[in-house]
Amino acid sequence: MRQIAIYGKGGIGKSTTTQNLAAALAERGRRLMIVGCDPKADSTRLVLGGLTQTTVLDTLRDREEEDVTLEDVLFTGYGGVRAVESGGPEPGVGCAGRGIVSAINLLERLGAYTPDLDYVLYDVLGDVVCGGFAMPIREGKAEEIYIVCSGEMMSLYAANNICRGVRRYAEMGKTKLGGLICNSRMVDNERALVEEFASRIGTQLLYFVPRNNVVQHAELKRQTVIEYAPTSEQADEYRALADVVEQNTRFCVPAPISNAELEELLLRYLPVE
Ligand code: ADP
Ligand code: MG
Repeated sequence: MRQIAIYGKGGIGKSTTTQNLAAALAERGRRLMIVGCDPKADSTRLVLGGLTQTTVLDTLRDREEEDVTLEDVLFTGYGGVRAVESGGPEPGVGCAGRGIVSAINLLERLGAYTPDLDYVLYDVLGDVVCGGFAMPIREGKAEEIYIVCSGEMMSLYAANNICRGVRRYAEMGKTKLGGLICNSRMVDNERALVEEFASRIGTQLLYFVPRNNVVQHAELKRQTVIEYAPTSEQADEYRALADVVEQNTRFCVPAPISNAELEELLLRYLPVE
């Protein structure tokens, strides 16, 4: 069983990419579970065909923990993908990261990590890796990390910050960074820029996912692209992403760069006017 944590700035495309990756892997017979670690609780909407009505934290709020069963929090969606949402506290109340800790502990207790699973994917919110949001990597659950980014400054800034957190946990445990997934925002020289950033922090650009409006069409239909438009070019992009994830052998402890070096790098990739 490979346990993979997907990190990245909010809105960068973690949930979209994670679910399409899961759907592409499911298509080739892999068994997966997605654990949504974002208080927005929309990490599994596309595989479940709509937002789940029950998150782990909601369930634990309403009921004694001993009375909760796996069926209350774990649902099966497209391609047999199993899906759980940690959920979060009411806005303004308590630490959002705690939901993740509760969710993972509950899943373990209820036996959700069955030996038939090929992959567990954690879709983790985080411009920084702190508190509960570090849980999937802190306790050696996920041994592989991918960071979704684009060529936009703030997304690379977040990726670099995430690497600062990852470095700390990677040094203590077995968790390693497997690479960056660039979810294109059509930034100038985007591929070359992200490739260079990846190499500066000691990792690789694992895959470049093009921007395509079919992703939003599928999202409106509450589906992954794999399900909504299986013969589209974008579906093949996600299948190719699944290939490189399955075959990846390059893992590292990232070496984040200084903010000054990052800014200098971004300036160098400005197009010549
Ligand atoms: P995150 O989980 O990182 O917060 P989402 O996966 O929810 O981000 O994506 C944010 C928005 O970007 C969604 O509306 C989604 O449809 C859109 N999006 C993500 N990836 C692509 C892509 N490759 N092409 C077009 N739109 C995309
Ligand atoms: Mg998300």
